[in-house]
Amino acid sequence: MEDIKAKVINCQMLTENVMELSIETYQEVKVIPGQRALFIFKDEQSTFQRAYSVVDQDTDNEKTLLMFAIKLIETGRWSNVLKKILVGDAVSIRWVFWTFILQDTQYPKAFIWTWIGITPVLHMAKYCTTDKQLFWSVSHKKDIFYEDRIKEIHELRYEIHITRESIDGYFPWRINFTKNQFDPNTEFYLCWSPDPVKNIIEELTFLWYNKIYAEKF
Ligand SMILES: Cc1cc2nc3c(=O)[nH]c(=O)nc-3n(C[C@H](O)[C@H](O)[C@H](O)COP(=O)(O)OP(=O)(O)OC[C@H]3O[C@@H](n4cnc5c(N)ncnc54)[C@H](O)[C@@H]3O)c2cc1C
Repeated sequence: MEDIKAKVINCQMLTENVMELSIETYQEVKVIPGQRALFIFKDEQSTFQRAYSVVDQDTDNEKTLLMFAIKLIETGRWSNVLKKILVGDAVSIRWVFWTFILQDTQYPKAFIWTWIGITPVLHMAKYCTTDKQLFWSVSHKKDIFYEDRIKEIHELRYEIHITRESIDGYFPWRINFTKNQFDPNTEFYLCWSPDPVKNIIEELTFLWYNKIYAEKF
């Protein structure tokens, strides 16, 4: 498949280490909420690629806008390219594609993620038309971004948990799945690092929920 040529139209820091990157392209791109793009980049060593989930999208006539939120890692190869990126720079992406996608069903949905895991599931929550709730867990208040986007989602119930400090208006401690009464048919969409994903799947399976979709990064 041909690479998609795009242009950076916005890059801004959302927190001290999360960057929002928006790109636009005139090539056709069809994104199902949850899917990711592969960015193709070149540095002094070679050409390389990294996957990023689409956090939002918009189409205006023949133009498609794709938005990403990317955690910059101190020693990260792509993070270091990104630190120097400017509005107007050309970027190439490949296959906006992935199997972690919002299911087209009428079942209630619960979206669960930590920190940067917000990206695919926030996109899903926005376009989900069934009963929906979300749970976001971060260590500190300074790690929260896109709370305004969460509030704007129609008929969404949500809990933001802060695990390492106590802040008014937020839930303390870890998310407690046993205290929540979910419909038995609820679909769960998780995005977390590998160990917590495994633990949450075990916890939900123990409670007899069996429609669980997970992404790890
Ligand atoms: C399907 C998919 C979707 C993804 N979507 C997103 C997204 O929306 N936003 C996003 O920020 N990332 C996302 N990632 C992760 C992303 O692809 C890169 O792995 C990440 O940005 C690191 O790239 P880098 O080149 O900067 O660091 P690298 O040079 O690859 O890694 C440098 C070091 O950082 C470690 N590291 C890698 N990721 C993290 C992390 N998250 N926290 C702490 N240490 C880390 C590595 O193990 C390594 O030791 C996604 C990954 C996948 C597979």
